[in-house]
Amino acid sequence: QVVLRGEGRRAAAGGFAGHCGYSTASGSQRLAGKVAVITGAASGIGKATAAEFVRNGAKVVLADVQDDLGRALAADSASYTRCDVTDEAQVAAAVDLAVARHGKLDIMLNNAGIVGSLARPELGALDLADFDAVMAINTRGVMAGVKHAARVMAPRRSGSSICTASIAGVLGQMTAHPYSVSKAAVVGLVRSVAGELARSGVRVNAISPYYILTPLVLRILEEWHPEASGEEHRRIVESDINEMEGVVLEVEDIAKAALYLASDDSKYVNGHNLVVDGGFTVGKALNMPAPAQ
Ligand code: NAD
Repeated sequence: QVVLRGEGRRAAAGGFAGHCGYSTASGSQRLAGKVAVITGAASGIGKATAAEFVRNGAKVVLADVQDDLGRALAADSASYTRCDVTDEAQVAAAVDLAVARHGKLDIMLNNAGIVGSLARPELGALDLADFDAVMAINTRGVMAGVKHAARVMAPRRSGSSICTASIAGVLGQMTAHPYSVSKAAVVGLVRSVAGELARSGVRVNAISPYYILTPLVLRILEEWHPEASGEEHRRIVESDINEMEGVVLEVEDIAKAALYLASDDSKYVNGHNLVVDGGFTVGKALNMPAPAQ
């Protein structure tokens, strides 16, 4: 069993405050007074971002389908609610819960996601039921979050929706087709609604992370490399496919990108896809032999 980065320290500290590894009273408090809903908050990127938001002074509603994990993270500044993003009524209810409990909603992080089938069939063998299941969470669930966040944000002429996309939505052939299409569609929906929301003072942006060893990625590695140990899985992500010399991409790096898009520091950033990939998606070597020396 691979121990994910920071997990040992967090488990030892216990609870959501322990998970944060920070006190809510310290730090720069860039989200002081703000209220956030985070879907997919019980694990990985969502969990780390919840901790970052709380550390920066936000009140956070953690929304997920992993009730035990979510409840264990709940604390003074973070409450848990069950929310399956495939059910629009549950997304609406999570938004309404934040408003009922804290008076408003400033930040909606639409982050819940799945990879779907771990096989990567060619187009002819594509399972459209798997395609529908992935789209229902990764794209339709995000659309529902943006829609219902805007419902309560627009009347206040303020708010920031953030949608977790992926490098798989920027480049083809990174993953199976359903996941890739679902993430490209997230970038598309951000572009589609950003102009309309701007006229209500509401922003919507995407974040596209490169590979990070979260439970989602671990599931892929365990299927594709069952013979490898947890440490070997870590090496594959953090060394073999790592893009930047000397540093490793961690969930906290995505949390900081989300913090920027959530805070007033990004007050004029709208319709943007913030790619956090060490430059991976902007470059590919030419399929041509190098010139003879
Ligand atoms: P994760 O599996 O740790 O977290 C995903 C969370 O979403 C889980 O807590 C899960 O319970 C929740 N979830 C799944 N289905 C749901 C549903 N129907 N309703 C509500 N919650 C649901 O994985 P992660 O890596 O933290 O993924 C978070 C997001 O980041 C996903 O959208 C994923 O596609 C995206 N992403 C991850 C990576 C990576 O390398 N880890 C890279 C790019 C994008």
